[in-house]
Amino acid sequence: MKKAGAGDLAVNGGCPVRSTLLPYGHQTIDKEDIDTVVDVLRSDWITTGPKVSEFEDAMASRVGSKYAVSFSSGTAALHAAAFAAGIGPGDEAITTPMTFCATANCILYQRAKPVFADISRDTLNLDPDEVANRITPKTKAIIPVDYSGHPAELDALNKLAQDHGLIVIEDACHALGATYKGRQVGSISNMTVFSFHPVKHITTGEGGMVTTDDKELAARLSLFRNHGIVGDARQRQANGQWYYEMVSLGYNYRLTDIGSALGISQLKKLDDNLLRRREIASIYRAAFSDISSLILPVERPEVASAWHLYPIRLDLDLLTATRAEVFQALRAENIGVNVHYIPVHMHPYYRNLFGYEGGEYPIAEAAYERLISLPMFHAMTKADVDDVINAVKKVIESFRK
Ligand SMILES: *Cc1c(COP(=O)(O)O)cnc(C)c1O
Repeated sequence: MKKAGAGDLAVNGGCPVRSTLLPYGHQTIDKEDIDTVVDVLRSDWITTGPKVSEFEDAMASRVGSKYAVSFSSGTAALHAAAFAAGIGPGDEAITTPMTFCATANCILYQRAKPVFADISRDTLNLDPDEVANRITPKTKAIIPVDYSGHPAELDALNKLAQDHGLIVIEDACHALGATYKGRQVGSISNMTVFSFHPVKHITTGEGGMVTTDDKELAARLSLFRNHGIVGDARQRQANGQWYYEMVSLGYNYRLTDIGSALGISQLKKLDDNLLRRREIASIYRAAFSDISSLILPVERPEVASAWHLYPIRLDLDLLTATRAEVFQALRAENIGVNVHYIPVHMHPYYRNLFGYEGGEYPIAEAAYERLISLPMFHAMTKADVDDVINAVKKVIESFRK
């Protein structure tokens, strides 16, 4: 292939690889999804009705947990898990900087201190040795993220937690359908959190879920999502009762019946969705494996990733451009690349609150400088996948040293 010249790049006025922007993630809503939601709209219950528990039961059975408690978002679910874990003022919880800020914010919501630990170079998941170094008498919980859909080192983290009497809240917002040593994500840690935002594997519009095997934790999660009120309004109405008690401070974090019905319908398509994502990941791997300036995401032998993201890293020593320039060039080709993530401690709010200056988490920071997420969603067509491959080859080729 002729080496693409700088002039061929769309960013320099050349013809883009495709004419419309391909997003990095996108939901799929089919006729069955729409019909299910319309049925709920015509029914008596549009908020907390029968569909909520039906969706919770379906999620629990899908991931192999005893309980599943739904929420209005993944963020609300994380907040509730932090509450249920007993995280409060003066406590610390250890998490990864390589995540969406909501993972660490849930610790702040509970007036506790997020403590970051650096990540492993290959998976970009929390490094258990770094976590061990950060445990203090104030530590209450460990909050790993299954980054990009690849489960964190759950055995090592759960062992650390057991040895120190800590709770593990696994942020699996990327990892619905992933497995770790043959076990389903959602059945492994004390609590596992999922999100149903439209870019995730299945959607309820906005929504989230916590799965757990612990009856007590499930009860605390349910309390928290409904103002700290004991019991169920629908039950009270059915029994003709008016009396209720608020026993702790909670929120209105309830998922609706409308969203739950959509979730039930979407969950049926999860397996096909995962198959397609795994197929796209292997096509990308085959297409890019001989490009030495690209570091491709790994999948350790003991896991099956859910491939929420396909994050590549640039070997900047082999390129004449920065990540920002490669990113701009790919966007100009109409490939909707993204960056996951700006390390949480580098956001102004965290810098101001804790005095971070950069340099504290060198592996996460170095990864951030090099990361680009390529489009990855189950509805991508063969032509979409080809466009991504052609655009990446075109751009990387033109920036080769
Ligand atoms: C999406 C996401 C969240 C937040 O979920 P919402 O449903 O958008 O509130 C939290 N953590 C991670 C890692 C996520 O990707």
